[in-house]
Amino acid sequence: MIKMTTPKRIAEATSESLHRIFTTAEAPDSTLGRIEQEVSQNLAGFLNDHIVASKNALSDIEQDFISAQIPEKPQFVSDHMHHLLDKLVAHSVHTASPSFIGHMTSALPAFILPLSKLMVGLNQNLVKVETSKAFTPLERQVLGMMHNLVYQGDDDFYQQWLHSANHSLGAFCSGGTVANITALWVARNKLLKADGDFSGITRAGLFAALQHYGYKGLVILVSERGHYSLKKSADILGIGQDSVIAIPTDEYNKIDCQKLAQKCQQLTEQNIKVLAIVGIAGTTETGNIDPLNEMADIAEQYQCHFHVDAAWGGATLLSNKHRYLLNGVERADSVTIDAHKQMYVPMGAGLILFKNPSAVVDIEHHAEYIVRKGSKDLGSHTLEGSRSGVAMLVYASLHIISRPGYEMLINQAIEKAEYFADIISCHESFELITKPELCLLTYRYVPKTVQIFLAKAGVNGDSKTQDEINLLIGQLTKFIQKRQREDGRSFVSRTRIEVARYGGEKVIVFRVVLANPLTSKEILHDILAEQCLLAQESELYLPQLLALSSEQ
Ligand SMILES: *Cc1c(COP(=O)(O)O)cnc(C)c1O
Repeated sequence: MIKMTTPKRIAEATSESLHRIFTTAEAPDSTLGRIEQEVSQNLAGFLNDHIVASKNALSDIEQDFISAQIPEKPQFVSDHMHHLLDKLVAHSVHTASPSFIGHMTSALPAFILPLSKLMVGLNQNLVKVETSKAFTPLERQVLGMMHNLVYQGDDDFYQQWLHSANHSLGAFCSGGTVANITALWVARNKLLKADGDFSGITRAGLFAALQHYGYKGLVILVSERGHYSLKKSADILGIGQDSVIAIPTDEYNKIDCQKLAQKCQQLTEQNIKVLAIVGIAGTTETGNIDPLNEMADIAEQYQCHFHVDAAWGGATLLSNKHRYLLNGVERADSVTIDAHKQMYVPMGAGLILFKNPSAVVDIEHHAEYIVRKGSKDLGSHTLEGSRSGVAMLVYASLHIISRPGYEMLINQAIEKAEYFADIISCHESFELITKPELCLLTYRYVPKTVQIFLAKAGVNGDSKTQDEINLLIGQLTKFIQKRQREDGRSFVSRTRIEVARYGGEKVIVFRVVLANPLTSKEILHDILAEQCLLAQESELYLPQLLALSSEQ
């Protein structure tokens, strides 16, 4: 019976077939039915089988996606599924592969898939209680749990604020970017709030606000390792990207607090107000954590908002062993954490948490038909409007994995990164660039003779030769990284960072994030072996490097 109805679908554009696409499931032996079975029984197998390691350039793949015409002719679901498998799935990226260790996106626990399906099926909209009901208290509870993770309030605190209509312990949002924007939005509106005749920035705008308060400008201070979303925030909040001032870092990629304090003093003298000092707990490029306590002291001294961007590193708080690395985070006015990074929840799960449950009053918005005053609608304190029920996945993960489970995942990832750093250091053809503080590290391929030559140039203070060699190594690193990505067996990413031992010059490095619990030590050895082989394929850079290094 089900089988008979299947292939018709909307292909005969009758109202009956229109009705059917909303009501009738695909038959188990239809193309989509089979895909669904494979995906739910063995996702890894399905991805291994269907994602092809192709050397196709993106520009070739674009040829499959060039028509801007909306189809006039309906397609059978099965036909369309073949199209999707061939053109889309085949050329997507196998982020769940244990040898994909280049980015913060990795594998998901198996229970996430059926739960996500349920979440999509329920299609709750968290903007208001009328479209979410139980999902609203659930989301508030998860915000409370995550607030507790950071600020460790007592039971009375959470009893009082967790479900209070006019307060918020934080907000769910699409990711770290929107979380950071929300934090700085709150900071800006609080700083430039209504005052006497002045109606506040929310109504009067930035120009009038600066005039009223007599500031020559507003700035955001963050280390040079700050995430680019802070510049987006400054742009959107009207203070301009140039107002994000990068403070130099020390050799461990942590903000130099002396320089930070100096900058604050200098700006205060110029009557430029520091809107926020932003500490990073887990920089995107090197995974290091700023000295948060010292930064909190400076923020207190200059009376400015202290925000911690823990989008990636925040999950470390779940590990009792490593939690101390983020000491001082509890002094932040706001903290960003991405559950879609080290908490293994699918994308679209960012969180902003506020120390003070009243912090959100300065961004409160109401409308008559929705998010009414005094309602418990979450939408009155969020930048986004309609939002999915992704909080359910964080809730489920916190229950199913639990804190000790997360602790194991975090601790193992850090141990694995330390192991990888060890084998890189011991390998004669690799140079470790940044040691892992969390599970992120950077390194590059440098043959022994070149390492010796480079060190000698350093001792002799010959920075010109050093720069020349580093430039060539950079080209080689780029070559290896591209080849490795194209071959598709494994993947590391690359970035360019200033390296203290090379006079603060920027060098190109491999970047590795060891988040996937299924990545084995054997895979790490294989990746280095593969990179050694790929280096030999470079007919330009490797011979040039070796020749240069054997000159003297
Ligand atoms: C990933 C990340 C962001 C941005 O988060 P999205 O979820 O990609 O928007 C911001 N800051 C840091 C430190 C990050 O690692």
